[in-house]
Amino acid sequence: MLAGELRLGGVDCVVLEREAVPVDQSRALGFTARTIEVFDQRGLLPRFGGFGTIDMGHFGGVGLDYREVEGGSYGAKAVPQSLTVAVLEKWAEELGARIRRGWEVTEFTEEDKGVVVEARSAEGAQVRVRGAFVVGCDGGRSLVRKRAGVEFPGSDAGVEMSFAEVEGVRVRPRPNGERVAGGMVLCFQQGPERFRVTYYDRAAVPQREVVRPSFEEVAEAWLRLTGEDISAGRPLWVGRFTDASRQAVTYRRGRVLLAGDAAHVHLPIGGQGMSAGVQDAVNLGWKLAAEVQGWAPGGLLDSYHEERHPVGARVLTNTLAQRTLYLSDDAMDPMREVFEELTAYEEVRTHLIGMVTGLDIRYEVGPGDHPLLGRRLPARQLTGPDGTPVEAFTLLHRARGVLLDFTGSTATGGADWADRVDTVAVRCTDTAARELFAGVGAVLVRPDGYVAWVGREGEPLEGLTEALARWFGVPAAA
Ligand SMILES: Cc1cc2nc3c(=O)[nH]c(=O)nc-3n(C[C@H](O)[C@H](O)[C@H](O)COP(=O)(O)OP(=O)(O)OC[C@H]3O[C@@H](n4cnc5c(N)ncnc54)[C@H](O)[C@@H]3O)c2cc1C
Repeated sequence: MLAGELRLGGVDCVVLEREAVPVDQSRALGFTARTIEVFDQRGLLPRFGGFGTIDMGHFGGVGLDYREVEGGSYGAKAVPQSLTVAVLEKWAEELGARIRRGWEVTEFTEEDKGVVVEARSAEGAQVRVRGAFVVGCDGGRSLVRKRAGVEFPGSDAGVEMSFAEVEGVRVRPRPNGERVAGGMVLCFQQGPERFRVTYYDRAAVPQREVVRPSFEEVAEAWLRLTGEDISAGRPLWVGRFTDASRQAVTYRRGRVLLAGDAAHVHLPIGGQGMSAGVQDAVNLGWKLAAEVQGWAPGGLLDSYHEERHPVGARVLTNTLAQRTLYLSDDAMDPMREVFEELTAYEEVRTHLIGMVTGLDIRYEVGPGDHPLLGRRLPARQLTGPDGTPVEAFTLLHRARGVLLDFTGSTATGGADWADRVDTVAVRCTDTAARELFAGVGAVLVRPDGYVAWVGREGEPLEGLTEALARWFGVPAAA
């Protein structure tokens, strides 16, 4: 994702990936609503070839109807991570990113004006790659993070969950999980006779080193916990993960940045892990590109840590809270009862849905109190001056700033930044758009889809120059 974003920002980049061929493990089986929006903003959704959306979700086992929040049920299910990787790899390559598989990064050194990364191939060949920055997107055990000396504090594994992807049997799907005597079970259907069963067995004591279970072990535990016999199935992938939760203390140290699991690891509950990583990349891409291109205003690149670290911390907190609610024994029952009671309140439900779908993220973008400020631009159908329909997300395909001008005048003030920001004259012709933009004269949207400034009707230019300078730097002409 980051490679694609950097290419959209006009920056050359190389991806060094240890695996010579893509791993075909499904891993993440979907993404959150905000991540779907992010893919939509780049025109990537058709490449996934369709997927099921998520109406009913949960918070630690307490059921939630995602349709209650606008865009909430937009999340995707049954999309294997291998497909997501394939889609993004192809997209980034089409945009000109150089993806070099079969190269393991072994070391890097930081210089005055850049970094030198060393990598070796499985055959023992060595290369040195010189760049302005290095971004560690190398997973939870990130070598880049360790070599940069970035601490990764957090909590060790307290619980272990095991899973098996199995073909040739039929299992009752339980996409939001189910508490059973002795633990918790979860089952995603991936095909007519293909399922991923995942369970937490309270009797199992987490090991210091996570050891992959055998299929026989998983089948035995599944039978014990559910009464369903899957032992005749063909195991495709068997594994184990834990609730170890850690976060890098900083996402940037000089010319080294971190994104995805390299920056945060946690229990993959609610499909938030990969989703958070994709959003890290989209927050970082345009800022890093601006820095490399030389137009980034002071502090823009540092705002990556300032904005994304709290989001990551909140994901860690909510996954730990969900773990405690869902996986604890009967001693947690009173808490569950109180929690169920609280979810009778709409505000509680929408708060939880906003949190787990990533839709409630709000960045500190500057002065003003308009409810859209710092929030994501939601999907809206707008209309151009000649009556042509304009999808708000389509305007973000090129990962540039967008100034939506609702005034019908051409003098919205963004002209000096035309090399970085597209000014688009639009009108609201349907109810949803009219409601969202009521009383709004103009809106500045960052390349990652977050609203940086809102101009009121009647005084549509108030504060625009300052906002453009804050996010898009000094105009090229100046
Ligand atoms: C069973 C399971 C289910 C999950 N379900 C979900 C879900 O439903 N939704 C969700 O959002 N998330 C889910 N996750 C989490 C998700 O898989 C991770 O958050 C995601 O893979 C992180 O992506 P990443 O690119 O940051 O890191 P990784 O996927 O770990 O990728 C890192 C890459 O870096 C490469 N690499 C590492 N070291 C080096 C090196 N030295 N040199 C070169 N290359 C290197 C690795 O080969 C790897 O390809 C799940 C995880 C598991 C295990």
